[in-house]
Amino acid sequence: MKKMKDETIAVRAGNKPDTATGGVNTPIHTSTSYHYKNSSVLHYPRYNNTPNLLAVSEKIAALERTDSCLVFGSGMSAISTALLGLLSAGDHVVFQNDIYGGTRKFVETEFTRRGLSYTFVTDLTEQAFRAACKKETKIIYVESPSNPLLHIVDLAMIARLAKELGILSLADSTMASPVNQKPAELGIDVVLHSGSKYLGGHSDILCGAVCSSSAIMEKISLSAGLYGGTMDANTAYLLERSLKSLFVRVERHNNNALYIAEFLSGHKKVKSVLYPGLPSHPHHELAKAQMKAGFGGVLSFDLHSDDDSITDRFFDSLRMIEPALSFGGVESLITAPSRSSHRSLGRKELEKAGITPTLMRLSCGIEHRDDILDDITTALASI
Ligand SMILES: *Cc1c(COP(=O)(O)O)cnc(C)c1O
Repeated sequence: MKKMKDETIAVRAGNKPDTATGGVNTPIHTSTSYHYKNSSVLHYPRYNNTPNLLAVSEKIAALERTDSCLVFGSGMSAISTALLGLLSAGDHVVFQNDIYGGTRKFVETEFTRRGLSYTFVTDLTEQAFRAACKKETKIIYVESPSNPLLHIVDLAMIARLAKELGILSLADSTMASPVNQKPAELGIDVVLHSGSKYLGGHSDILCGAVCSSSAIMEKISLSAGLYGGTMDANTAYLLERSLKSLFVRVERHNNNALYIAEFLSGHKKVKSVLYPGLPSHPHHELAKAQMKAGFGGVLSFDLHSDDDSITDRFFDSLRMIEPALSFGGVESLITAPSRSSHRSLGRKELEKAGITPTLMRLSCGIEHRDDILDDITTALASI
């Protein structure tokens, strides 16, 4: 069979049909004990080599175009294991400033006491990243699109810079999903995912993934077995099942978000819309070049108002879209980052981060786009 297309890979890759019954799906193997006498491999879930973990890992690796993938019990477990697995005391890491809040907190809480140092870079240019690198720097870590401001980082530029300096590039590609962006094809060494978002896609599983070459994975996989942030077989099955519909879902997320972003950018009560798919986005050309299928389901927007209570009134006026954390699920959700993901920051810090009290982040679900639009239009009219 010739090389499969992505949509086919999502359905077919990694599948381990039930040889006992002829069932077409990978059965859920709940065993934690496996016979070892006639096997060259010791099978145990924490070694990431049991059937459900292998099935879902092979599918994600095929989608991300990497030799290998390891799955984890959460996105944070994937990220922390990858970082600690690749670093030793004395090493330095250059991070993009507006990375996921949890990752940032991990760095600020865990790095110094382990003898690791770091620099956050706000300006996303090659010059700024290059200037932040020192001789102890071992990793450049970025996230694109970023959350909630939807900044786009030039992944090919980061990959080239890291190669030139003989260090590794890591990219959190959660917001894009492998449908919209394949960082490994742009030269990124390690691709990270919170599978709790688009990969899982139904707001019902917590999971993460790390994708890389086999050589890099050897180190990460050693740490994975020791730290033990393992995914269980039931979650692996649900993730494998969800990935089969990844392309259908993300294409709808992409289309719905672009439709809503275009509508909001023409609305008189809306001050600004942040969405990489809009020509008004400062990195639109870059986004078009590195995001192939679309720009994802998340957009942020701000209203013409100095009144902080307007977000609450707006949320109260919504009849379908739910004010709830997280994104990437089939249902549309909305948050005010100043009072959710970024609520630990003071007013000054929020301002510095570019997050106003009235900024809202909308995760467009896969409902009919006109129902999402109708809910927003009515709520905007009532405030
Ligand atoms: C949610 C998220 C994470 C953390 O993942 P969990 O599954 O919640 O541990 C990491 N990075 C990004 C970009 C995220 O959105």
